[in-house]
Amino acid sequence: MTATYVSKLECAYTGEEVEKNIPQTLSPAGKPILVKYDLEAIGNNISRLDIENSEDPGFWRYAPLLPVSKAENRVSLGEVITPLITLKNSVKDLDSLPGVVVVKDESRLPTGSFKARGLALAVSMAKEFGFDHLSIPTNGNAGSALAAYAARAGMKSTILCPDDTPEINTSETLTQGGDTYLVNGLIGDCGKIIGEGKEKLGWFAVSTLKEPYRIEGKKTMGLELAEQLGWNLPDVIFYPTGGGTGLIGMWKAFHELKELGWIDCKFPKMVAVQSTGCAPIVKAWEDGVEHAEFWENADTEAAGIRVPSAIGDFLIIRAIKESNGFAIAIDDEDIIAARNKIGREDGLLMCPEGAATFAAYEQSLKLGLVKKEDNVILFNTATGLKYPLPKVTKTIDKNNKFNEENFR
Ligand SMILES: *Cc1c(COP(=O)(O)O)cnc(C)c1O
Repeated sequence: MTATYVSKLECAYTGEEVEKNIPQTLSPAGKPILVKYDLEAIGNNISRLDIENSEDPGFWRYAPLLPVSKAENRVSLGEVITPLITLKNSVKDLDSLPGVVVVKDESRLPTGSFKARGLALAVSMAKEFGFDHLSIPTNGNAGSALAAYAARAGMKSTILCPDDTPEINTSETLTQGGDTYLVNGLIGDCGKIIGEGKEKLGWFAVSTLKEPYRIEGKKTMGLELAEQLGWNLPDVIFYPTGGGTGLIGMWKAFHELKELGWIDCKFPKMVAVQSTGCAPIVKAWEDGVEHAEFWENADTEAAGIRVPSAIGDFLIIRAIKESNGFAIAIDDEDIIAARNKIGREDGLLMCPEGAATFAAYEQSLKLGLVKKEDNVILFNTATGLKYPLPKVTKTIDKNNKFNEENFR
């Protein structure tokens, strides 16, 4: 396959069309740009079976529904189809039916987070356009994914993180070749510097939803999920929402699949999960408005969802509304308790963002927002190894091993 099925690019807010053969950032209205495909042509030329039989790694099997025109421009680090893992023991005390709570474990992707999906696409498109220097403001995982894929593509990357970003993230970014800086501010402050540097220093910014292609990568979570479930969808998806790319992307995926006739089921309820320390989307949802206010003093251990202002807020809210879903905020204490419980009881080390979706599921059950028989997918968006973990405190004296205290 060469060429692409991209039919046009358009502003997600006004619908205004923008040129598809040149690099784009935001639309003239200052809103995200979405990629549209000639789904009729895809349907005529490609079947679900072709996709199922594809030998391309991971999400590259969905290449016909992606914007990269030449296979040699695909930048790849061995992407995999991320597994679906049914929670068994940690759901026993909940009132849900056995087998209905399933984690899609995105931690298995290159760089240990689902940010690999979006950045693989952004970097591949940057390669198509001939860029040699990319930049990004990040709370951690997007930066390491950009650094890795840019290095792979032989491009330079400049990465700006808030100075309280977990050290492991900034260190991995640096080690994967990213020119990495700590900024005494939040992600929005990093974004401003990136924006100004664009003119001065000539890099191309791949900030969340400020270029059209990261969302196409995140969209593959929805395509992959549908295929894994036998071209079916769950009843509810709990998604840890920061900038919202994944939630918006999956919603887009489901529509494309439906229009292609590849799925014929009900769409899931989309649930945006945030931390009570940074919950602008939850507030906007509760207030019944489409644009979220800036969240002051954003603070949560779930760094990936510490996003005080999301440029795609209206798209997140629309997807929640259209899907009959909702938005819910979880305390950090409950997030960490959920992480520890799932690790201890099911042997799965979730990141705080992923653990937040489990805590949100628990609360939603209690509140009657989901039913015990609903098939639920929780997204574990990164490996728990990137985050601070509890320290071991118990010790053994090798000369006095089996005393009263030990091995209780
Ligand atoms: C970036 C990130 C999120 C939020 O993703 P969006 O799709 O931008 O909302 C969630 N979890 C982790 C671990 C992340 O790195």
